[in-house]
Amino acid sequence: MKHIARKRFGQHFLRDAGIVHAIVDTIDPRPGQCLVEIGPGLGALTLPLLERCRTLTVIELDRDLAARARCWQGVTVVEGDVLGVDFVRLAQSFPPAPASIAPAQAPGGRLRVVGNLPYNVSTPILFHLLQAVEVVHDQHFMLQSEVVDRMAAEPGGRSYGRLSVMLQWRYEIERVLDVPPDAFDPPPAVDSAVVRMTPHVRSALTDAALLGEIVTVAFSQRRKLLRHTLGRWLETRGYTGVFDTTRRAEEVPVTEYVALSAALTQNRCPDTVAG
Ligand code: SAM
Repeated sequence: MKHIARKRFGQHFLRDAGIVHAIVDTIDPRPGQCLVEIGPGLGALTLPLLERCRTLTVIELDRDLAARARCWQGVTVVEGDVLGVDFVRLAQSFPPAPASIAPAQAPGGRLRVVGNLPYNVSTPILFHLLQAVEVVHDQHFMLQSEVVDRMAAEPGGRSYGRLSVMLQWRYEIERVLDVPPDAFDPPPAVDSAVVRMTPHVRSALTDAALLGEIVTVAFSQRRKLLRHTLGRWLETRGYTGVFDTTRRAEEVPVTEYVALSAALTQNRCPDTVAG
C-alpha cells in the first residue's frame, strides 16, 4: 500500500539512488557492527545498509512504517519516539560480535547510529544522543545544511553558537555530503547535508548541564560583550578566576568554555582560563 508522507513526523523520503549509495559508502557498514538507524521510513537507507551489514536495529515512531520494517529480514524494530530510547541500554542489548569478525570491524560493542533525521526534532535528537556518547562509535546523519553549518562552525562567525560548543566538546564533526531538495520525496524547503560525528577518544571532563548553562548565558545576547551576560553570571556565583569578558560569546573557543565549566565544577579558580 502506498504510504503518504506525514508532515508531523518530518517525513521526506530519500529517492536519489546515487545519494543513497554515497551515504552508505560513507558509513561503510560491516557485519558484526551494532548499527542503529533512526527513522527507517520506507527503507531507502535501511535496505542497502542491510545488504552490507546483515543485521540492523531501527527506531521508528510511525506505526505503519514500523510495521513495514518488521517484514525486512535481519531488522529489529523499536517502535516509538527516539527521544525516549535509552541508548546505553540499547548498546547492552546487542550480542557480542562473533569471533570470526576482526575486532577493528566491531568497535567494542559501541553503536554506529545513522539516519535521515526528522528535521523538526533533529536538535533534540543530537542532545539526547550526547547523553549516551560513551556507547557510540560514530554517528552519520542527514540534517538541514544550516544545522550542519552550526554544528561544525569555528569561533568568530555567525553560525558559531551553543550547538557548536556542546557538540564539538564531545565529537569530531565533519560535513561529508551536500544534498539538494530534489533528492527527497516530498522535497524539503531547505538544503540538506550529511554529517559524520565521531566521539573524541578523550573529552575534557565537565558537567554537561553546567557547560550548557554557561553557553546559554554567554550566547543569550551574542552582540553584547560577555561582561554584560556571562560576566554577571560568574559574579553571582562568586567566581574569582580569570576569564576575559571583553569579548563576544562567538569569539571564545570551545576549549575555553569547557575549561571554565571544569573550573567551576571543581570549585577552584584556575590561574587563567582565557588564553
Ligand atoms: N530514512 C528514510 C529515508 O531516508 O527515506 C526516512 C527519513 S524521514 C526524513 C524521517 C523518519 O523518521 C520517518 O520515517 C519518520 O516517521 C521517522 N521519525 C519521525 N520522528 C521520529 C521520532 N521522534 N522517533 C523515531 N522516528 C521518527
